[in-house]
Amino acid sequence: MFDKILIANRGEIAARIIQVLKDRGIGTVAVYSDADADAPHVALADEAVRIGPAPVRESYLNQDAILDAAHGSGAQAIHPGYGLLSENAGFARRCADAGPVFIGPGPAAIEAMGDKAQARATAKAAGVPVVPGSDGPVDDAEAAAIAERIGYPVLVKAAGGGGGIGMQLVKKPGKLERALASCRDRGASSFGNPAVYIEKYIESPRHIEVQVLFDQHGHGVHLFERECTLQRRHQKVVEEAPSPFIEAYAHLREALCGSAVAAARAIGYVNAGTVEYVVGPDGGFYFIEMNTRLQVEHPVTEMITGVDLINWQVDIAAGAKLTLEQSDLRIDGHAIECRIYAEDPDKRFMPQPGTLGAFLPPEGEGIRTDAGYRSGQAVTPYYDPMLAKVIAHGPDRGTATARAQGALEHFVIEGITTNRAFVRSVLAEPAFAAGAFDTGWLERYAKGRG
Ligand code: ADP
Repeated sequence: MFDKILIANRGEIAARIIQVLKDRGIGTVAVYSDADADAPHVALADEAVRIGPAPVRESYLNQDAILDAAHGSGAQAIHPGYGLLSENAGFARRCADAGPVFIGPGPAAIEAMGDKAQARATAKAAGVPVVPGSDGPVDDAEAAAIAERIGYPVLVKAAGGGGGIGMQLVKKPGKLERALASCRDRGASSFGNPAVYIEKYIESPRHIEVQVLFDQHGHGVHLFERECTLQRRHQKVVEEAPSPFIEAYAHLREALCGSAVAAARAIGYVNAGTVEYVVGPDGGFYFIEMNTRLQVEHPVTEMITGVDLINWQVDIAAGAKLTLEQSDLRIDGHAIECRIYAEDPDKRFMPQPGTLGAFLPPEGEGIRTDAGYRSGQAVTPYYDPMLAKVIAHGPDRGTATARAQGALEHFVIEGITTNRAFVRSVLAEPAFAAGAFDTGWLERYAKGRG
């Protein structure tokens, strides 16, 4: 086992990883930018190394500075968290070549899933249903022919994409050429990859994903699904496990989760990963991509399974055998996560940097709050404006919802406008209680509030 691990991240996820490692008696090294010198993750770690100025390019994405900090501090492994360097195959390769150990999959798996056009082909070959569409990157003529065959509306997506960037919905043939051009431009400027591919647009879909965990010895399990349909601008806001939708279909969970294990196995996947699907109103499910890292919303899975994913990530990276068996894993109750952002729902959700007054995360039965901020701290414009995740667990969905609402009500956040009341209002909606929503619901609800 490792004696010391560097955490190449910030905010709530860095704080949470550090806490897990401390509980195990493993030494921790935080890294920080100038904007984060007094952030909680820095205070929590045994050691902390400055890696550069505030902008992420010069600090949290600065591979040389992070590797220097690891070598200088004697850390034997790096946990990348999510975002930032977590899905950077080049960084994983540098770690694989010269150390320290990268806590995550190998560079080949990151690459195989990082090109989304290629990932579709890989999933298809493994027998996983994919959205009807192209088998790889397309030129204009191929795109037109495929769109004609699968029928409009279609989605044009950037092969290197992420965060919905570049994605274009095309409703009729006359608009296709322009969408292809604009998606290529966005792909090239945001990801350095102009390749685009095309998919049928699934109407009124849900976004459901499956957590998998594989060790280095070929043993893997899934930890059931997460419902992540409540999104704004492709940003998840409320996530839950299990999915209220899946329950309505016999055998759907087995088929969905089984196909996620097959997709991961097909690329020799190691460590924690998530296979994402769009699911149609008829229960048809289609692979869209695999995230080769820990997800923001991993706590809902932890709460319903009792499995600590970060603990397993560390053990697996150290070569340990995964001792979980599929037949031992059970769903215990229901969990709901609410992401609390420094943003103003009344000003089109504009980020709200500033300085926090009192910041007192809620506690209570079934409540877990993963926070990356403390009272009096500055929220700068340099990073994602997520302040905390409030996760509520209960024996059933109604109890989990009530607990989440209570926790949001008691979350004291002064000095900065947040989406706390907005999220509470979502949880109080009849559509939420009924589990009756699609990926467009939250956007429509936000607009309709007036
Ligand atoms: P990114 O990697 O850029 O986030 P994804 O492929 O994961 O892009 O898609 C982002 C979101 O777009 C999904 O969560 C889903 O809501 C929606 N989406 C993606 N593909 C389809 C599709 N074929 N039909 C309908 N909605 C889709």
